[in-house]
Amino acid sequence: MSDDREKKLSDAKRALLEKRRRAKVKTSSVAPAKPAITPRPPEAPVLASFGQERLWYLQQLNPQDTSYHMTTAVRIDGDVDTDALAAAFHTLIARHEILRTVFALGDGNLVQRVEEPDAFEFRLEVGEFIGDRPHGYIRDLASQPFDLAEGPLMRATLLQSEAGGCVLVIVMHHIISDEWSMGLLWRELSAAYTAHSSGKPVELPPLAVQYADFAWWQRQQFADGQYAAQMDYWRERLAGDFPLLQLPTDHPRPRVQQHTGAYIQRDLASELSAALQQIAKDASTTLFVTMLAAFEAFLYRQTQQTDILVGTPATNRDQQQTEQLIGFFLNTIVFRADFSQGQTFSDLLASMRGQSIQALANQSVPFEQIVSDLNPPRDPSYSPIFQTMFVYQDGDGHQPTLGKLTLEPITVDAGISKFDLTLFTKLAGDRITLSLEYDTDLFYDETAHRLLDHFETFLHSIAADPAQNITAFNMLPAAERDMLLNQWTQTQAPFPVETFAHDLIASHPAEAVAVRYGDGVLTYGELDARANRVAQYLLRNGVQPGTFVGLCVERSLEMVVGIVGILKAGCAYVPVDPAYPQERIAFLLQDAAMPLLLTQTHLLDAVGAHNMPCVPLDDVALFAEMPATPPDVTVTPDDLAYMIYTSGSTGKPKGVRVTHRNLVHSTTARFTVYPHAAERFLLLSSFAFDSSITGIFWSLCQGGTLCLPPHYAERDVMQIAALIEQYGVTHILLLPSLYQILLEFAQAGQLATLNTIMVAGEACPLTLPAEHYAALPHATLYNEYGPTEGTVWSTVWEIPAEPEKMLIGKAIPNMYTYIMDAQLQPVPVGVAGELYIGGEGITQGYHNRPELTAERFLPDPFRGGMVYRTGDLARYLPDGNIEFLGRMDNQVKISGHRIELSEIENALLTHPHVSDAAMLVVEQTASADVTDSDLLAALAAHPDADALLDEIENLSDDEVQALLDET
Ligand code: AMP
Ligand code: MG
Repeated sequence: MSDDREKKLSDAKRALLEKRRRAKVKTSSVAPAKPAITPRPPEAPVLASFGQERLWYLQQLNPQDTSYHMTTAVRIDGDVDTDALAAAFHTLIARHEILRTVFALGDGNLVQRVEEPDAFEFRLEVGEFIGDRPHGYIRDLASQPFDLAEGPLMRATLLQSEAGGCVLVIVMHHIISDEWSMGLLWRELSAAYTAHSSGKPVELPPLAVQYADFAWWQRQQFADGQYAAQMDYWRERLAGDFPLLQLPTDHPRPRVQQHTGAYIQRDLASELSAALQQIAKDASTTLFVTMLAAFEAFLYRQTQQTDILVGTPATNRDQQQTEQLIGFFLNTIVFRADFSQGQTFSDLLASMRGQSIQALANQSVPFEQIVSDLNPPRDPSYSPIFQTMFVYQDGDGHQPTLGKLTLEPITVDAGISKFDLTLFTKLAGDRITLSLEYDTDLFYDETAHRLLDHFETFLHSIAADPAQNITAFNMLPAAERDMLLNQWTQTQAPFPVETFAHDLIASHPAEAVAVRYGDGVLTYGELDARANRVAQYLLRNGVQPGTFVGLCVERSLEMVVGIVGILKAGCAYVPVDPAYPQERIAFLLQDAAMPLLLTQTHLLDAVGAHNMPCVPLDDVALFAEMPATPPDVTVTPDDLAYMIYTSGSTGKPKGVRVTHRNLVHSTTARFTVYPHAAERFLLLSSFAFDSSITGIFWSLCQGGTLCLPPHYAERDVMQIAALIEQYGVTHILLLPSLYQILLEFAQAGQLATLNTIMVAGEACPLTLPAEHYAALPHATLYNEYGPTEGTVWSTVWEIPAEPEKMLIGKAIPNMYTYIMDAQLQPVPVGVAGELYIGGEGITQGYHNRPELTAERFLPDPFRGGMVYRTGDLARYLPDGNIEFLGRMDNQVKISGHRIELSEIENALLTHPHVSDAAMLVVEQTASADVTDSDLLAALAAHPDADALLDEIENLSDDEVQALLDET
């Protein structure tokens, strides 16, 4: 099978293919017994071990990176015999070749050069420190770079305090050491120190082999295929793609991982520690596996990603000879948990137990070889395969000693982080200690603390009942829960509940200009009179208050007269865009059971076909007979004001029922949120979208002027710029993509009167604010978010000039937000979940669609009222602002139009020749056409691509043409 075809395979197919291939390898390789390490042949150059090679390579990439420096520091009480200590180091250097090994390239390979003990430059440095905190000195020592070609790769410094006592700091490059080595080093150093200080010979058991022998042996093993069976295990375990773990980071990932970090630590309560140990015992496993399983489950809950990969160090000293050696033996093994099936913690523990047994049995194949075999995509911004590490430290690990001196270890935060996150767990006494090392380029300290809070809460929840489903565990501390559900939802503010938009509109001075269209002007007095006549007409022609009235008009003064007139009649308006296809118009008319359609004379022919009364609003004679006074109808706040249709997944649009109360709330909230009154608002959205509500009602309810662009001008940025200049427009609301083009093409000064720009309807690019503030430093840019179902807007963010991320801000007055998981539990700050909105903007749901309404509008789980589930993915930042992360379903926005792709798929499926359909959006730039290969690539990405292709291939040319013609 060619690479190309293989690339086009679905994940599942590729995984199957891998499995089949592997099955072939496996039967041909039986794991042989491992031969013992023997001394290397004296003449051969010794290559570096695989692990050393990787560390060397990392150092070449980034010589400043100190994350592979291993630092230990101890405070020493009493007098140190400096000569004996120096001699002890020399003893160790003579004894362990690795301590006098340097690295060189030979024939394109990295080789170890072992220097003679006498020729090797090593000195115990002696210095001083001032004050009682040596931490700064230690950090300085820890961060001095090593020269891998020259050595030495171990530094020892004795810092004497002027106040008495001293501190011994040992810094080693990981390329010659590991955790195990450090224990060994201290033991041998102590023995040698004791001997030297009392003038006795050093008695340490001789070493049969050296690190270089291991490295040589490891390469031999590899060349002889001794790792083949282990490699098969890892190929199977690590088949498929490696998703990048999307932790709740605060900052965008730097292009190159810098490994700068920090760490925090805490002890778990002894009861919790005991409960976790009991869980391990009950599951016949170790605390290591239990804590690892909990960590994996936690990462799943934090990221919602179901494929969780975590690395963990393996000592890799299964050859007895290696136990006595200092050197870099440490290997990395990967644990992987699949959370897609929704298991309990007990289930997870059982499977992790099995996995750990297998992983440890296969721990010696160098991780470097696994990576090079699997060849995952490389990106210097994150480590391949896994980005988080779990380290279980043996509680009774090495305690530094030095003869009879009293040593006290000093913990130093060396300011490094090898991975995005590393969790260290340790059982000391009856308590489990957790330490979290985190990359400070990604996380604020505050966030790391919160993560640890979440993890601790999560552990409590597991301990309470490990048999629960993993999705059921709580990770939200009580205080945070209260903040999310109670404090952040306090948005109540007074608003004129008993007032109606049409009354507010009627309250302004009669001579003020309400609407402008071309050269036409409508004062508030004229608007009121004409709207009254329309209302009177409706009521006298059989229209009942409380019913829907269709409005099928182009942008015009009549459009506004129609809207206000319908409201004054106590009816709800249903905008019908005359540009809609006839079938859609027919559907709306019938779905809303409209008794009558208000329209314009030039549209009569087109809309007349629908067999319903059509009244042209521009027929002056018709309305002239009507009284210009408001009709006497009673409207209540819960009556509908309008109904706007949006895309529906079944192929039928759905009408969103919006009340007067919703409308007045949505509109008057603008009076308080925005510092500038809507003096002159340029309406760019079609009146069939709810974003038009902003311009129409904000300006008219506040006494400003609504400016209407002529037909089609709303898409032409040159005309928009000219209109802004001509009318002295102060406010606009538009798609961010359109605003970007407007900024690009408007001439200097044309936009100078704008003071309030709102972008809405789709995600705003991060580059827009800079472009905006460069052009219009005195105008404020806002990002408004909200679905039609929540009455236009639910949250808003005043965008700063240089935001690090684009946000949608916080709930507007009288609206509130929840971000919840599939179990309707609030997710912690930083964690992605579905955005729910509640409050005064929540509409009455979908017309004639009780099931769909029940699916999307739910009783608020925490208080009275209803919430709407938006289908948008979002997360909270620590300050309560919300970050929009995309859709959870396949709804897309194309030029601001909300489209559910399944609507189109379902429409295609009604064709007799179509048995399956898949829609996807192909980004098209203005200059590039979509090519056949784009389409094929897009099709190949669809899970049913092959079937689809087969079907397509089976169609005759005529059938294909017929299908093409129809769509
Ligand atoms: P509509 O009902 O047409 O207003 O569409 C509402 C949907 O548009 C939301 O559910 C979001 O998916 C998207 N949307 C609206 N405003 C924004 C925004 N400021 N940023 C990102 N997406 C938005
Ligand atoms: Mg909207």
